[in-house]
Amino acid sequence: METIGRYSYEQYLKMVEDFHGSQAPGLILGGVMVDYAISRMPPGVLFDALCETAACLPDAIQLLTPCTTGNGWLKVVDLGLFALSLYDKYTGQGVRIFVDPEKLKGWTEIFNWLYKLKPKKEQDKALLLAQMEQAGRAILSERKVMIKDQYLGKTSKGAIANCPQCGEPYPKRDGALCLSCQGGSPYGKE
Ligand SMILES: [Zn+2]
Repeated sequence: METIGRYSYEQYLKMVEDFHGSQAPGLILGGVMVDYAISRMPPGVLFDALCETAACLPDAIQLLTPCTTGNGWLKVVDLGLFALSLYDKYTGQGVRIFVDPEKLKGWTEIFNWLYKLKPKKEQDKALLLAQMEQAGRAILSERKVMIKDQYLGKTSKGAIANCPQCGEPYPKRDGALCLSCQGGSPYGKE
């Protein structure tokens, strides 16, 4: 690997370290995957991103593309799969990049890491990162995808009103109470 997106490989490692506090393997492999996906998008196409895991990979997408969860151009559908797609935001046509188990043979430390076969402290991180750099796209595969309509376009929240229970503004279409007051609150009693 010589470059990741607009950055040299070394620059990207530095970015990951600044952002994450260490050279997180998932962000490094993620960078290679995002770079691969970008290279498959026709020039000039405005793309959105869909990420199939909530771990690490969304951060690589946010570091290397204009797509963030905040601007709505990155959707995280947590299927637990280390895969992502970039797609034309109007037509839904795109490419999915995933780690290909068939191609992992021989890349022992990447295999051990992905399948969590070693406790973290027994991992040879230097070897893992070296294998990731050496392997680059060789452990990945791509396929064409068509994104379902429900993921396309901006999803408007519609009208906003104050929740009669907690008093905070919420999208009225969610019902008589906000989703939190309907039982969705993540907070327990203090
Ligand atoms: Zn409420």
